[in-house]
Amino acid sequence: MKLVRFLLGEEESYGALEEGKILILPQLFDWLPESLEGLVNAGFEFLSRIEARLAELPEEVKEKHSIEVKEVKLLAPIMNPPKIICLGLNYRDHAAEQGARIPDEPIIFIKPRTTIIGPNQPIVKPDFVKKLDYEGELAIIIGRRGKNIPVSKAGDHIFGYTILNDVTARDIQFKDRQWTRGKSFDTFAPIGPCITTRNQIRDPGNLRIRTWVNGELRQDSSTKNMVFNVYEIIHHLSRVMTLEPCDIIATGTPAGVGVFMKPEPKFLNPGDVVVIEIEGIGRLENEVVSETGL
Ligand code: MG
Repeated sequence: MKLVRFLLGEEESYGALEEGKILILPQLFDWLPESLEGLVNAGFEFLSRIEARLAELPEEVKEKHSIEVKEVKLLAPIMNPPKIICLGLNYRDHAAEQGARIPDEPIIFIKPRTTIIGPNQPIVKPDFVKKLDYEGELAIIIGRRGKNIPVSKAGDHIFGYTILNDVTARDIQFKDRQWTRGKSFDTFAPIGPCITTRNQIRDPGNLRIRTWVNGELRQDSSTKNMVFNVYEIIHHLSRVMTLEPCDIIATGTPAGVGVFMKPEPKFLNPGDVVVIEIEGIGRLENEVVSETGL
């Protein structure tokens, strides 16, 4: 399933996205959790109950509880994750473009949840940030709690996948020589447009990932180029901290970020539109706005 959270008028709900329509799940089944985060907390196995019941439903019943995507405002699928963990230098092509050594263990940092925005919501650039950049990334949504998870069991802890833009203030990142401040501004983690459940992604290690800025293709890579794959990432992270349902893990960005463009870096400015597309998930689009212009 491709799960989306949305606003219809003032009402928030969630549903399954299919061919431009959303099947409003909590309207169909009164035994479902009220929120999409509640559904993720129920775990991946719970989905098979929903899928079985959906298969029994007549088309006209589904039709009655469906709505066109264009009639709703899509929201970030998860708004209150326990944590957002991100990997640095996890693509061979991205390490190569900056002449960095490939790490022998994942390099990680954490973004606060106040960075999260949804599809089509603005990335806000404070005026004192001079070098704003994008990073298109595949993000894992955790569906089951765990610590010290072996690589062979890591797949059981994945609920699904989404897209995350690890927006970064390069000037601040490089000045501080660590990453927290430069990556933690409000709006610096657009996510969405949906959570594609893990059974819909045959191989998370073979997905095309692309980023455009104002229609210009900047990143065009594959998750094949990851240094640590999604299962190894879960293993390594869970040796450090307990992973919990709704945790978001951003798995790093491929080559083509603005700061390493040749011959000149190309940073984001107000009015720029960033689109990230990952095979099997969809397109995440956000425009940059100036803080003073709000
Ligand atoms: Mg990143």
